[in-house]
Amino acid sequence: MDRDTVKILKTELLCLGAKVSGADVDRGRKAGAGPAAGGMFIFEGTVANVPTQSWFVSQSPYSVYNISSEYKSERQRRYVLTKDGERITEISVPIARFQKLKTRDGIPYYKIALLHGADCLATTTIQTCVYWNTPKRCKFCAIELSLLNNATIAKKTPEQLAEVAEAAKRLDKVTHVTLTTGTTATPDKGINYLAETAKAIKEATGLPIHVQFEPPDDLKMIDTLHEVVDTVGIHIESFEPAVLQRIAKCKSDIPFERYVAAWKRAVEIFGDTQVSTYVIAGIGESDESIIEGSRIAVELGVYPFIVPLRPIPGSMLEKEKPPEPARMQHLYEQVADILHDFGMQWSKNKAGCVRCRACSGLPDFEY
Ligand code: SF4
Repeated sequence: MDRDTVKILKTELLCLGAKVSGADVDRGRKAGAGPAAGGMFIFEGTVANVPTQSWFVSQSPYSVYNISSEYKSERQRRYVLTKDGERITEISVPIARFQKLKTRDGIPYYKIALLHGADCLATTTIQTCVYWNTPKRCKFCAIELSLLNNATIAKKTPEQLAEVAEAAKRLDKVTHVTLTTGTTATPDKGINYLAETAKAIKEATGLPIHVQFEPPDDLKMIDTLHEVVDTVGIHIESFEPAVLQRIAKCKSDIPFERYVAAWKRAVEIFGDTQVSTYVIAGIGESDESIIEGSRIAVELGVYPFIVPLRPIPGSMLEKEKPPEPARMQHLYEQVADILHDFGMQWSKNKAGCVRCRACSGLPDFEY
């Protein structure tokens, strides 16, 4: 399959999802802070976090089938992806050995961190958010739902994360780590705890680490991450103020200038392409806002990690549908031109979502 075909296939999978019933595939955690409720598919030199549980998946032309004999172990199983019944390609589904272990005090590792993409260990350090029970909650988010499902624990300690990260590196060859957090009620917005947990993981494994947080009240707080973290994500979600006001009130309360100031500070500390921002397509914004907003980000050295809306079951947007693949393709082509003009490439990023690239097609459109 050529690269153009692969990038279009990945975009379609991100937007339409795939049916996996009967394929014996891990359909992903039902909820969480990021694009949850998806399965990780590795194919044709790329990786995709594909919706497998949302309502629209039943309408997808894509399905996954297990083509192994019943005697094959979980790690030896082979799968094919079909479109309208026609075989498209073989896919592999990453299986994490570490996720089967437990801590000394009996907590399953999968409740502490998960394998994301091909080789990323990911976790939400603090699974609660100060905005959750308020009108300011981000409507696309499902951070506290996985707590209700008993799929995780409310706060992971640095010791627990260091232990799990060591096992994930040893058993599953993870090469980088993503740490996100619900926003805390403190001025640092959760940064201090991210720094503490990152330090413990770094000391135990030496792995490159990515952390995600809201712009803090005092930008100096970002400096505290300098020694222990390699890359950061400060997520605007949408460049259109009216959209943010409706979908993520907590984010719209932060002036755009504060995002810009936080991005600039972070780029000074971590370097070009080591800072990223999630941009969600499909929540009512114009194409122009995404393209021109991404241009501003790229000019500052920030990678715009553009993802189609993931309507997670149980979230306030669960009944929505992701944007059409053709629209995402257009956005990715336009923003890939901007990346090209500035010489920005996902492969220069050391850790986190940009390096993982499972949730966005943009890296696949780079040239
Ligand atoms: S891109 Fe980020 S959120 Fe998506 S699977 Fe990778 S690490 Fe997880």
